[in-house]
Amino acid sequence: MTVRVRIAPSPTGNLHIGTARTAVFNWLFARHHDGQFILRVEDTDLERSRPEYTENITAGLRWLGLNWDEGPFFQTQRLDLYKQAVQKLLEQGLAYRCYTTSEELEAMREAQKAKNEAPRYDNRHRHLTPEQEAAFQAEGRSFVIRFQIPDDREITWNDLVRGPMSWQGSDLGGDMVIARATADGIGQPLYNFAVVIDDMDMQITHVIRGEDHIANTAKQILLYEAFAAKVPEFAHTPLILNMEGRKLSKRDGVTSISDFQKMGFTAEALVNYMTLLGWSPPDSTQEIFTLADAATKFGFERVNKAGAKFDWAKLDWLNSQYIHAMPVDKLTDLVIPYWEEAGYKFTDGRERPWLEQLVSLIQPSMTRLLDAVEMGQLFFTDFLEMGAEAVTQLQQEGVSATLEAILTALGSQTLSADNAQEIIKQVVKQQNVKKGLVMRSLRAALTGEVHGPDLIQSWLLLHEIGLDKVRLEKAKS
Ligand code: GLU
Repeated sequence: MTVRVRIAPSPTGNLHIGTARTAVFNWLFARHHDGQFILRVEDTDLERSRPEYTENITAGLRWLGLNWDEGPFFQTQRLDLYKQAVQKLLEQGLAYRCYTTSEELEAMREAQKAKNEAPRYDNRHRHLTPEQEAAFQAEGRSFVIRFQIPDDREITWNDLVRGPMSWQGSDLGGDMVIARATADGIGQPLYNFAVVIDDMDMQITHVIRGEDHIANTAKQILLYEAFAAKVPEFAHTPLILNMEGRKLSKRDGVTSISDFQKMGFTAEALVNYMTLLGWSPPDSTQEIFTLADAATKFGFERVNKAGAKFDWAKLDWLNSQYIHAMPVDKLTDLVIPYWEEAGYKFTDGRERPWLEQLVSLIQPSMTRLLDAVEMGQLFFTDFLEMGAEAVTQLQQEGVSATLEAILTALGSQTLSADNAQEIIKQVVKQQNVKKGLVMRSLRAALTGEVHGPDLIQSWLLLHEIGLDKVRLEKAKS
């Protein structure tokens, strides 16, 4: 058997972290078994689906490296298939037209509430006679197609994550709506129905999705049976929770993959982190791995049932590990768009070697790619904002004379790593001050801060673009 799995996002929003993590697990499982990973866009909700969300979802999956083998398939292009399937169930008597009005449904719910019963459809139109149907139609009533759910059926499956699962038919809310009325009398399919028809048609062997779909699974199994189709295996993955243990939501800041991208997370770190949201490798001390690496080890026996807490500190740590280990030219490629987004323009390739020098200077202090904007600012603009600590440093006794001495010693020579050290030594001796004072003053004058990346390298870069003398002049006065 070839493993075939799918990710089936609805394009009603940007690619959500939960959907992306489900995609990761599907991808890993497919690759582990040399199987196929399919992308299906569930766009039957015409009011809420938008092409720009489809674009965001496919771009996000590609960016994360979650390449798919088939698709994207669009449900709106497959309506005939669903209609044929509805027709078949109608013919078999397993589905029927229900003419209950929304007012009647409302009254039904109120009555159930009054009796403290769970809301459900009472299956009142399950066995209408042709005459009754004709009468409802004559009244001008619209209809939905409902699929029969036997109350006394126990539905069971062995979930690959959660183990044996069991649902009682009577707990599924009564006969389920599978399609809404259309002019041809057959109907526009609803999610739970289209999913099953597609999963059958695409020969999906394993349905891997979030645990919020568990109740749907019970209904869907009954549909597979109605079509005498093989029921796939199911794996319901744990939800992603915030640090307080509640479902991660918009209130927790970002939830879509494009937001994480904007904040400066690398695709490799994010996908690595998502893999750890609910799964752990057999050697749980190993935390940094590529998707391909993880695929060799992935299996549901190591997926947790409990919700996975989203830990920003851990994600930041992983991201910094990837950034620090990255070749400078690759990191420069990744950082340039953030600089451009912040308004810096790079017109030709001439600044490239200099930009790479700058990147290698700030690389060890970076956690997110976006950090490069703030860290690079001091090299891109003449204006320097002085931090309070730098101001205090520059007000210390002897600092002005020290800076003056640095300028004199530098004179008109071109700065290099060697003569920079020479100049500092010379000034220490001549001014009879501690080396620490010279270094701290130099840093404060050049960068407006008292901490930061390698001082000599920073000075060299500022010297190259002619900003060092201006800043020393300004700081000494
Ligand atoms: N369109 C559904 C969703 O986005 C897919 C659920 C499934 O994988 O069956 O939640």
